[in-house]
Parts: sequence; structure tokens; C-alpha cells
Amino acid sequence: MKCTYCGGTEFYEGPSGGLSTNILCANEKCRHWFNYMGVIDKLEDLNRVEPTDEEREAERIAKQAERDAAPDKFYEEGAEIYRKGGSAKECLESAPDWHGVNGSDLYRLAGFVDALSADKDRKPLLKKQQSME
Ligand SMILES: [Zn+2]
Repeated sequence: MKCTYCGGTEFYEGPSGGLSTNILCANEKCRHWFNYMGVIDKLEDLNRVEPTDEEREAERIAKQAERDAAPDKFYEEGAEIYRKGGSAKECLESAPDWHGVNGSDLYRLAGFVDALSADKDRKPLLKKQQSME
């Protein structure tokens, strides 16, 4: 049994189901996954490369950085909605109903409200002006 990519003959056994077993090429530089059906030299290429521990760690750090940056991004989006004359309701773009309000919506709202309170030239809503007459 040989890896079709590197010619390696050592494999790690992965998850199995039915008559086949997923095997991973043991070559650290290769790490391709195959489906082994129990027949010698018959490997089905799963077209998947197993990430190394370093790659996995790099991916985890990148994902974390993305998550950490998210609140600022949504906050700034909310402020931008206000500056463009939008309504606070536009901050709730991911919420189909009140059950669905999530973190990104709340950060957008916070950005909107802060931009609103920092705006010294803000005008009252037209509707309110009319009802006070
Ligand atoms: Zn290989």
C-alpha cells in the first residue's frame, strides 16, 4: 500500500465505517487522507490534507483575532449607519425577530447610540416635531 502523493507506505488509521477505513499518510510533509477498502493498493483519494499541529494552531489564532476584532467592526458599522442618516433599526440586520438579537446587532446598536449622543447637531425626529404642534 503506497501513498499516491509521496509514495509513503506508513499510514495512521482514522475513522472507519462499514467496510472502509480512513487512513492518513504518516509522512509529516504529506498528510493526505485516503479511503482504504481493505484491498491492497486500492486507495481512494479523499482530496483532503490533514493540517499539521502548527497549521491548526495558526488557524486557531487567526480565528481568535477575527473574533476579537468583531465587536469593534460592528460598533463602527453602527456609528456609520447613524452618520449616513439611517435608523437604529438598521442595526438589527441579523435579527429576524426579537428572539434573534445577537452580539453583532448589539454592538451595532451601541455604535449607533454613541454616535448619536456624540452628535451635537442632531435634529429631533420629524414625527416628534409634528406631534408637539
Ligand atoms: Zn503521502
